[in-house]
Amino acid sequence: MRRLGADEATRLVADTAAALPERHRGCVMCAIASGEHDAELVIQRSAAGVLLVDRFAATRGHLMVVLPEHVEHVARLEWERYAAIQRLAWQASRALDALMSPRRIFVAALGASVPLSKTFPHLHLHVVPVYEDGDASRPANVFSWSHGVWVYEKAEGATLASELRVLMNAREP
Ligand SMILES: [Zn+2]
Repeated sequence: MRRLGADEATRLVADTAAALPERHRGCVMCAIASGEHDAELVIQRSAAGVLLVDRFAATRGHLMVVLPEHVEHVARLEWERYAAIQRLAWQASRALDALMSPRRIFVAALGASVPLSKTFPHLHLHVVPVYEDGDASRPANVFSWSHGVWVYEKAEGATLASELRVLMNAREP
């Protein structure tokens, strides 16, 4: 993994969104859900959602659960759909725990109310393993790009995705 500065990472995300086909309306999450973007980072795909390794990682093993269709507000989701994406986050947490032995795992529904350079309003959950104690592991620091963000070297993210896929498939549903 290498560390990118916040400005460089923000630029990369903006460039990615700008280069998407028209049908995704600039939404990287829609492109991920369609299988046209970051497909090599996908761990599992189901009717509930797409679980994948986040290309821009707060920590090693930072995952995302992306809703299959473009819904922006959690309150507009039926309970069964909401429960299903939370279940995916729980299954992902168990696989992360087995593979990475983090000290904690944060699960967060973030996202912006309007499209911004770093995030998208399309509903998604972050599943973030935390390995440290102290100030660096406070949510305000973990979820900030102020100090930069990690990106995987070529094939590194795909390898992590396949390791997690094996663990998830080996467990009871
Ligand atoms: Zn979308």
